[in-house]
Amino acid sequence: MVKKATIIALTVVALSLGSCVGGGPGAKAWEKEYDVAIIGAGMGGLSCGAYLAKAGMKVLICEQHSVPGGYCTSFERDGFTFETTIHSLQECGEGGLIYQTLEDLGIQDEIKFIPLDPVRRVVGKDYGLTLSSDIKQLEDDLVAMFPAEKEAIRELIVDAITFDIENPELMMSLVGKTNGDIIEPRFQDPKLKLILYSIGGPPQTQAIWGLIPQFNTLSRKNNYFPEGGGRALANLFARTFKEYGGDLALNTLVTKILIEGGKAVGLELESGEKIKAKYVVSNADARLTFLKLVGEEWLPEEFTQKLLEAEVWPSAFLVSLGVDMDLGSLGFGGEVIHYSPAESIEELTTTDPRKMGIDIIIQSLRDPSLAPPGKHAVSIMALLPYHYMDNWHTEDGKRGEEYRKLKEQVADRLIASAENVIPGLLEHIVYQDVATPLTYERYTLNYQGSIMGWLSTPENIAWIYGWGQRTPIENLYQAGHWAGIGGIPTVIFSGKTAADLILKDIQEAK
Ligand SMILES: Cc1cc2nc3c(=O)[nH]c(=O)nc-3n(C[C@H](O)[C@H](O)[C@H](O)COP(=O)(O)OP(=O)(O)OC[C@H]3O[C@@H](n4cnc5c(N)ncnc54)[C@H](O)[C@@H]3O)c2cc1C
Repeated sequence: MVKKATIIALTVVALSLGSCVGGGPGAKAWEKEYDVAIIGAGMGGLSCGAYLAKAGMKVLICEQHSVPGGYCTSFERDGFTFETTIHSLQECGEGGLIYQTLEDLGIQDEIKFIPLDPVRRVVGKDYGLTLSSDIKQLEDDLVAMFPAEKEAIRELIVDAITFDIENPELMMSLVGKTNGDIIEPRFQDPKLKLILYSIGGPPQTQAIWGLIPQFNTLSRKNNYFPEGGGRALANLFARTFKEYGGDLALNTLVTKILIEGGKAVGLELESGEKIKAKYVVSNADARLTFLKLVGEEWLPEEFTQKLLEAEVWPSAFLVSLGVDMDLGSLGFGGEVIHYSPAESIEELTTTDPRKMGIDIIIQSLRDPSLAPPGKHAVSIMALLPYHYMDNWHTEDGKRGEEYRKLKEQVADRLIASAENVIPGLLEHIVYQDVATPLTYERYTLNYQGSIMGWLSTPENIAWIYGWGQRTPIENLYQAGHWAGIGGIPTVIFSGKTAADLILKDIQEAK
């Protein structure tokens, strides 16, 4: 029997975080003055806060939600733990960006990362391909399917192996190129191209996120899942921040960045309370930060214009299912299964839930603690836009009966599509929850539920990196995916960069 959730499940995460105070009875009263006040406890804000607190600064993080982590979290229902975000986490192995951060903070032994290998399985109407660290096997599989393209396949794999994501120069060489620019000149066979676009994203996908970097992470065995899910990672950062002396104020919405003489001097909270701070860091959405919290009157016109015009990453639709099926014995593992029924390149970009590509992840085959014995936690995710069907049949953001009907209808269609990979799935659903782009927006305040901030177009990258995490407002910095490229490793790194900038500025001011 299907038990449909009546409340959006993300709120329940709060139950697991008794140690983080804020808002409720007995909550700690925040002090009136800090060295640094951070808006948002996403991974960017938490990492920035942890570095600064470790350096001896007096730091406050204000988070509007009841739990830390922003997008990087998980929620519990009926004994299942569901992921809201992580498909695969990179840079967790020794030397990787996340590992280095954990080492800097002295917590590298406090979380386990489960290596994902195979990482992905791509399933079409009449083909299936497994993507593992054995990239030679992938080359052989592709050559067996398309022998006439042997040389071009081999060259692509060589490029992927030699591309090094830690080498910014090589990485930047893909900036400005699309997947189409990489695939079209090399390959002839339309079906091979369709498969490669299904793996790396449709032709217009920015190459920096496309086929070559994706194949590269395979060859470097650079795909992991944190044991306990995204919230285990977020909670570890939150705990560490507090252990270094930081104050984490949950359920605390920032409504204004206080500015005096062009300089950020603190925050105003929804309660009306004012907090003084020598430095302010925003981990929040960029439009919200500048247009609402700062105010246009403080911004150069060109900057405001760019904020209004720059394109953002699309949002996502997520179906979380608890199922009473023995999926392990059916040959599935912890890989992301990408099912793409598209028969032409044009169909790859459809937003028809019956025909679009979906990612299926059986989370509890990665980490068995995420589901009760004999059951499994399954996510189905599709990149459906914020503006789908007149903003999901809402008016002025109001979510009524029509909204609920539409989201259940879309979920039913995605589940029907997933049945092509997991036959019998529908019959075995014991719990179901659905999140739309509006849900993602509501819980994180990211504009239109954008999954990774600004779209990584060359213009946006040049603009954002031009600011180098500083802003037009003195003493106001940014950390997180609106300050650079999205993804959990990069936002954790941007938290460190913002902390370094502040510490350097303090040093120079002495
Ligand atoms: C569906 C989905 C799948 C993804 N898959 C992956 C993946 O597999 N691997 C990967 O590496 N990345 C993935 N990402 C991207 C990654 O999750 C994000 O880029 C990253 O988590 C963003 O972190 P952040 O710190 O920049 O901001 P956020 O996570 O957005 O956190 C910002 C925080 O600020 C708070 N906030 C905002 N405004 C205010 C305010 N006024 N007052 C107080 N608090 C405020 C919000 O509540 C939020 O907690 C995915 C994202 C999504 C949505």
